[in-house]
Amino acid sequence: MMVIMHEAATEADVAHVVARIEEIGASAHISSGDRVTIIGVIGDREEITQLPLEAMPGVDRVVAVLKPYKLVGREFHPDDTVIDVRGAKIGGDHFAIIAGPCSVETPEQVLEAARAVKAAGGHMMRGGAFKPRTSPYAFQGLGEEGLRMLAAARDDTGLPIVTEVMDPRDLDVVCEFADVIQIGARNTQNFLLLAEVGKADKPVLLKRGPATTIEELLMAAEYIVKEGNRDVILCERGIRTFEPATRNTLDISAVPVIKIASHLPVVVDPSHSAGRLDLVLPLSLAGVAAGADGIIVETHPNPEHALCDGPQALPTAVFGEYAGRVLDLARWAGKTVT
Ligand code: PEP
Ligand code: MN
Repeated sequence: MMVIMHEAATEADVAHVVARIEEIGASAHISSGDRVTIIGVIGDREEITQLPLEAMPGVDRVVAVLKPYKLVGREFHPDDTVIDVRGAKIGGDHFAIIAGPCSVETPEQVLEAARAVKAAGGHMMRGGAFKPRTSPYAFQGLGEEGLRMLAAARDDTGLPIVTEVMDPRDLDVVCEFADVIQIGARNTQNFLLLAEVGKADKPVLLKRGPATTIEELLMAAEYIVKEGNRDVILCERGIRTFEPATRNTLDISAVPVIKIASHLPVVVDPSHSAGRLDLVLPLSLAGVAAGADGIIVETHPNPEHALCDGPQALPTAVFGEYAGRVLDLARWAGKTVT
């Protein structure tokens, strides 16, 4: 942390700031220029940030030197995290396609989608049993029954399951069936839920909220890792902007920005970001080209009859062709896709 004093700050102001810094056991290093004095502060970051330095007389501004996220940042953990989900690896050189319907509807629907994902070379299947819907009157998901349908599709295809939890009270039952716990965009900063999944022994796929900054996303991941769960996959799924042409705006630059800042794997969700079938392939390819470690995408055997997010779902009939294009580009980008 660096404290930059005003040009008009007096020696007494500087001495007062130094005294407050030393009071909490940190050390202060003064460097006086012709016009301004800068005080370097070394010590426990959390304690230093508690000090209201900017409120002290003579202080112009305070500049952080270290990032606020310690566990998920690259500063103290330069190597990429690779997460192994029942043999499907993601992160580092390993690329994964996670695909399936928005919601679990019937055993046949999940099975058909899972088989299409498997046949296309996909690595994990997704499907929501607990659905966060904007309207309380919309289909809310099948709950535990849906989890059982996912498990049956896993038994058939061998694909690990990614599914969302919204309520800490459902965490035990979700963990009983899921291989990866998804935290949806509406719960990115639900800190109590994050702490609970941080205690679980399953990897977590954490989505970026539509109004969450990259730093806030990384701090949300920090909540999970702080509890002991180091296997977190971050997901860019579009943010809310002034542009109405798409449901959300895929923040493609978030991918390299996060990869530079953090060692955690990053996936792109081209389905929820655009909300449009015709944009799923171009946004997926953009995600791969930007350095994503995977794609999470919606596919449905019959999108016209989907109970949720039909307009953005790839029909399973074309999923093989889509996945082929994505995997080709991932290979070209130097990733291992098996
Ligand atoms: C989903 O993946 O099914 C979902 C609801 O996505 P998001 O949380 O990104 O809106
Ligand atoms: Mn959806």
